[in-house]
Amino acid sequence: MVRLGCALLFASTLLFGCNRSEQATAEARPTHTKAAAAAKAAEKAKALEKAKAKPEQNEHADEPRRFVVPFAWEASRDEPLSQTRAYLKEILADNHVYMEHGPKFFASFADGQKPRATVLTCADSRVHTSAFDTTPENDDFMVRNIGNQVNNALGSVEYGVEHLETPVLMILGHSGCGAVKAAMGDISTQSEAVRHELENLHVSKPKTGVSADAAWSEAVVENVHSQVAIALQHFGSRVQEGKLTVVGVVYDFRNDLGHGSGKITIVDVNGNSDASRMQAFVEAIENDAAPGASRKKDGARGKRGDVERADSGSASEAANNPLSPELKRVVDRANEMANQASAPKLRTAAPAPSPAAASGH
Ligand SMILES: [Zn+2]
Repeated sequence: MVRLGCALLFASTLLFGCNRSEQATAEARPTHTKAAAAAKAAEKAKALEKAKAKPEQNEHADEPRRFVVPFAWEASRDEPLSQTRAYLKEILADNHVYMEHGPKFFASFADGQKPRATVLTCADSRVHTSAFDTTPENDDFMVRNIGNQVNNALGSVEYGVEHLETPVLMILGHSGCGAVKAAMGDISTQSEAVRHELENLHVSKPKTGVSADAAWSEAVVENVHSQVAIALQHFGSRVQEGKLTVVGVVYDFRNDLGHGSGKITIVDVNGNSDASRMQAFVEAIENDAAPGASRKKDGARGKRGDVERADSGSASEAANNPLSPELKRVVDRANEMANQASAPKLRTAAPAPSPAAASGH
């Protein structure tokens, strides 16, 4: 505590110096009044003298804010600056471990990015790529905001989809989303900035007879569908051309959907949300992923540092490789079951390779 006291005293001294130097500056400023010239000159001289008398305080006037952080750690473990120190210590240590990937790993993407997915998700601290991708580097172009909203980050999403030409736009909502919950209620009490972010997040008000948790869970899924629909308004032509697939996903760490804690569930593909079609889609992608399009050495759960590119031979092979008869049957069956006559159909042949895959990087 003695050390802390000294630190605070030191900080206070510098802060005080800062205040006094601001005062000196204000006094030195021309007043633009019609005061007597002699009085003005005297005042100016006085101010200059004051400024000269405190060169060191002026020089260090901005430093207290930089110095209080390392001194704060002894006060309490829960105190904000103490948490800051602990957090920064941990990220530096984690980064040190991460650097063990070595120069070869980082060199593989040092000169440019070729992600396969633009991933729009919530800023929520419980949501991270580690839930669905052990090797996200150079593969997931991440865009985040509260409520995973397309229009609140349209420029970033558009950059991923149209400039980087990712073949996937994945919109990933999550159970327990605070933004969705806020949007279900009265947002007028929120700050202007937060209200601005939430005013385009439209979900149904809770129905009578539905528990609050169930309504919240439904609203999370509803928002994912809504965001997929908005994305299709912007990027529908790329979907029709086979260049883009918009996938709506819910990451469920609360097991609200009953599929298991931490499960990610595909709930929407290009505006299709029928459960049977989603099941068929998942079966198709799990059983017949184009071999050349994988970047993982050992199946889906590649080790870090194993990020690989599809070679051009495999990519062209993928382009000419229709779905197997069995999977084609699954997809056809799903399409037959579609209850939305105008909904886009699932593809019965492998799409053309994405520019990223075709480039052979
Ligand atoms: Zn959220």
